[in-house]
Amino acid sequence: MKVVLKDGSPLEVGDDASVYDVAEQIGAGLARAALAGEVNGQAVDLRTKVPADSEIAILTFDDEYGQDAFHHSSSHLLAQAVKRLYPDAKLAIGPAIDQGFYYDIEFARPLSDSDLEKIEAEMQKIVKADLPIEKFTLPRAEAIDFYKKQGEIYKVELIEDLPADAEISFYKQGEFTDLCAGPHIKSTGQIKAFKLTSLAGAYWRGDEHNTMLTRIYGTSFPKKKQLEEHLARLEEAKKRDHRKIGREMGLFMTHDAGPGFPFFLPNGMVLKNSLIEYWRELHDREGYKEIESPIILSRKLWEESGHWDHYKDNMYTTVIDEEDYAIKPMNCPGAMLVFSNRLRSYRDLPLRLAELGRVHRPELSGALHGLMRVRAFTQDDAHIFMLPEQMIDEITGVIRLIDEVYTKFGFKYQVELSTRPQEFLGEIADWDRAEENLKEALAAMDLDYKINAGDGAFYGPKIDFQVEDSLGRTWQCGTIQLDFQMPIRFDTEYTGRDGEKHRPIVIHRVVYGSIERFIGILIEHYAGNFPLWLAPQQVVLIPVNKEAHGPACYQMQAELDSIGARASVDDRDESLGKKIRDAQMQKISCQLVIGDRELEGRTVTVRRYGEKEKIPYGWDEFKAWLQEQISQRLDDQAGKR
Ligand code: ZN
Repeated sequence: MKVVLKDGSPLEVGDDASVYDVAEQIGAGLARAALAGEVNGQAVDLRTKVPADSEIAILTFDDEYGQDAFHHSSSHLLAQAVKRLYPDAKLAIGPAIDQGFYYDIEFARPLSDSDLEKIEAEMQKIVKADLPIEKFTLPRAEAIDFYKKQGEIYKVELIEDLPADAEISFYKQGEFTDLCAGPHIKSTGQIKAFKLTSLAGAYWRGDEHNTMLTRIYGTSFPKKKQLEEHLARLEEAKKRDHRKIGREMGLFMTHDAGPGFPFFLPNGMVLKNSLIEYWRELHDREGYKEIESPIILSRKLWEESGHWDHYKDNMYTTVIDEEDYAIKPMNCPGAMLVFSNRLRSYRDLPLRLAELGRVHRPELSGALHGLMRVRAFTQDDAHIFMLPEQMIDEITGVIRLIDEVYTKFGFKYQVELSTRPQEFLGEIADWDRAEENLKEALAAMDLDYKINAGDGAFYGPKIDFQVEDSLGRTWQCGTIQLDFQMPIRFDTEYTGRDGEKHRPIVIHRVVYGSIERFIGILIEHYAGNFPLWLAPQQVVLIPVNKEAHGPACYQMQAELDSIGARASVDDRDESLGKKIRDAQMQKISCQLVIGDRELEGRTVTVRRYGEKEKIPYGWDEFKAWLQEQISQRLDDQAGKR
């Protein structure tokens, strides 16, 4: 019989062929790498028989679903080892997650790290045994019986949630069976490299009224080398943790007085303000007008915008003069009011209203994380009001701006286009046209992008930008969203060439996303070693002897101040060695030790942070170099225009 491969080419296979047989027929290498398959778009086991004329794809670790099947099989491997070592343990759920897997299990006593080692050793035995992983099904009643006998109360509960006539699928490897929809890899021997990474507590079904289970996290790969690289990256990420570096550099702090509301310290404010100055320069150049809308606005406004009905759980509220108010979770309604503050004509468009808007959103306390996940942050927002024929130019302009900013920080990025979801507002024709325009703009910029079909916001399609940091991790930052709804809800109008009233099209867009989070990303991306123009502490002058060299250091600091550099003098009564160590700890970009030799020769010896080598400069030469480094923020832009 004939099947069709993903690239459209036909393949003649045996009548009884499985997905694995198809992989083997294509090539031995592919068969070895195969983890799961896709038949007519459905993820399946390699053992699945293929129907005639079906479309077949072979999934490897490079495919999302292939990776999921691999990680999911690793969680079964973990559970099997646990049941061998702790027969009374009760299994709950064990899904694949990004970069790994976990299993929630009830143990009679708390686990320790030495337990994890024992479990890993047992997992290794199961891998060696290369047990085939095979699927079978049972009617629901028998499935419940199967688990009741074993005392697996969580599995019983899971099956009881399924419809009465459901056929329940299981996967069996050796003596171990797990309830599972699949798909899974062919045998345990394929899991060549794995590591149990951490333990955590997790409530059954995420409900704090239920039993607290033990969650064992792990990661796994088809090759040892991939695991080693992954663990090295995790180790490096730990060293770069922005909370640790933030403390060392005096950038920000958190306090029980306001969980999720970070405090910025003087050095952190310098960093934040540098980012904001850069942002203002760019937006000024690009013809944006900056506005500021209130943080607290009345319930009536949020009802008009639809937030009060659809988004209320995501806003903080308060009462003023016995009336309900909301603390803004978004800046959009404010921008709409500014637009309609006076009569607008087509000549005013495009109107680009930028706002560094401080927004508040309730996040669960357990989800809070340094600057990355907070309850109050500053969006570098803008709303662009435009004519339909201006759409492509405006979108292209925003993409160019985002590209410029990310390139500035050395980020690579990926682009995703999210299209009309199942539930949407507005006319299909408008959606189609908007999606076409977004595609045209992306094509004009020569950007590759992934389509997330059906993932758009209910009010319009969008383009998302995922930046990739120096450790290869991705972060969603920029977004461009088209909106046809907000102008209708707010009855926003302009007078057209024809003298009639029309509705403008609106883009919501951010470049940094949240400035606070972007700072967190930058700290980890640079490991605190910021480019000079951004570094909060650019120069420290350390006198060898306070009395003899201190005054000269202050004179030099004043000269550096006058060229716009951020310099300080460390004249504490500490040893030279301690001062240098502290300067290293604070990651001060240029560390200058000033003694007799430097003063006599009008020279400085410069040690850059993170570098062993010390470079001698003439004093004037150093100032000129520093000035050039600091001004790089502007120079790059001049080059672009
Ligand atoms: Zn908006």
